Amino acid sequence: MTRRALITGISGQDGAYLSRFLIGKGYQVIGARRYSASGGLWRLEELGILDKVEMISIDLLEFSNIVSVIEKVRPHEIYNLAAQSFVGASFEQPLYTADVGAMGVTRVLEAVRMIDPSIRLYQASTSEMFGMVREMPQSERTPFYPRSPYAVAKLYAHWMMVNYRESYGMHASCGILFNHESPLRGEEFVTRKITRGLARVRHGLSDAIELGNLDAARDWGFAGDYVEAMWAMVQRERPDDFVIATGRNATIREFVELTGAAAGFDIEWRGEGEAATGIDRNTGRTIVRVNPRFYRPAEVDLLLGNATKAREILGWTPKVRLEELTHMMVAADMERVERQAAARTDGSSTWTGAARAAN
Ligand code: NAP
Ligand code: GDP
Repeated sequence: MTRRALITGISGQDGAYLSRFLIGKGYQVIGARRYSASGGLWRLEELGILDKVEMISIDLLEFSNIVSVIEKVRPHEIYNLAAQSFVGASFEQPLYTADVGAMGVTRVLEAVRMIDPSIRLYQASTSEMFGMVREMPQSERTPFYPRSPYAVAKLYAHWMMVNYRESYGMHASCGILFNHESPLRGEEFVTRKITRGLARVRHGLSDAIELGNLDAARDWGFAGDYVEAMWAMVQRERPDDFVIATGRNATIREFVELTGAAAGFDIEWRGEGEAATGIDRNTGRTIVRVNPRFYRPAEVDLLLGNATKAREILGWTPKVRLEELTHMMVAADMERVERQAAARTDGSSTWTGAARAAN
């Protein structure tokens, strides 16, 4: 029997990679997105699967809408990836972030409990829940200390998943995923901001990129690897929570150096704090500056995951290393910028979704 998966947040980075992975496994994939979606479906288009995903409208703010979608689709598995997922914006929109990220998950849980509690559920929990980290590295047993409205909302959702699992025996699993990136990552996140920014500098479309805290460190993996862990959790007989991470971290500075090298720059740092600049040794030009506008009211200084449980129980390990990831992202952004430049020169209006999104 063909298994049916409902994915909320289908238009996002993980929605695209997870869809491709599930389609490859023979699933019928139903992608749910808002009427008032913030972006297009360019990621599915880039992965060449747009015509293989059936679309349905959902908004996690509307309980009756969630109920009717689940009743109509009758999925075997639900992957709840929808969220206002940008930490920076959550300080500006804490109520909205909580409504989608915390209450939205409760709405999904309630709808599943009412309609068919045997539906298997995956929730996109996050390493941001560790916030001001209580131990190094962080595992499933590390106490949480969220540092943003986004992380607080996700923590509420996380515990509701645990609660429904324990109260009603529902198959509800949470992936505590550390940052994962790809050429399909949103442009507001620091990695994509850097790869796209450097590609634009390389092609003379801008002088420099402006960043916030250069000293924060993250455990960055490849989104394509991480969606495999989501699926593996849902297949287990017993629902559970798993940390998914690479076990290696790097600072924003180091990420800039790596991507800089991939984009043909040789970056040297001068100055500290707000006065820090990244200079290309080859030309002497400043290509990275700090703008305090990108500082956060409360920062997560460093994250480093311990994914031993996922390795031992799910058999999951990351395949793509950070060097490979940065090359992949820089190559994609270079190509997008080149395509844009070519389209401008010949007046062509046949931009691809990726080029549009990169604009
Ligand atoms: P993303 O690209 O921002 O995708 C999230 C999607 O949620 C968006 O495409 C958005 O779609 C949708 N959405 C927002 N509000 C919604 C609402 N009210 N109702 C229905 N859909 C809504 O995020 P991602 O990087 O793919 O991450 C997937 C999930 O994993 C998110 O929950 C994120 O918080 C979590 N997570 C991500 C990371 C990471 O490093 N990427 C790490 C840990 C956890 P439209 O705007 O098109 O409607
Ligand atoms: P997050 O871990 O979910 O918050 O992912 P982000 O990619 O948004 O941010 C990762 C880290 O990069 C955080 O510690 C940010 O403070 C830091 N950072 C430094 N400069 C920037 C910037 O210009 N944009 C973003 N998004 N983050 C930045």
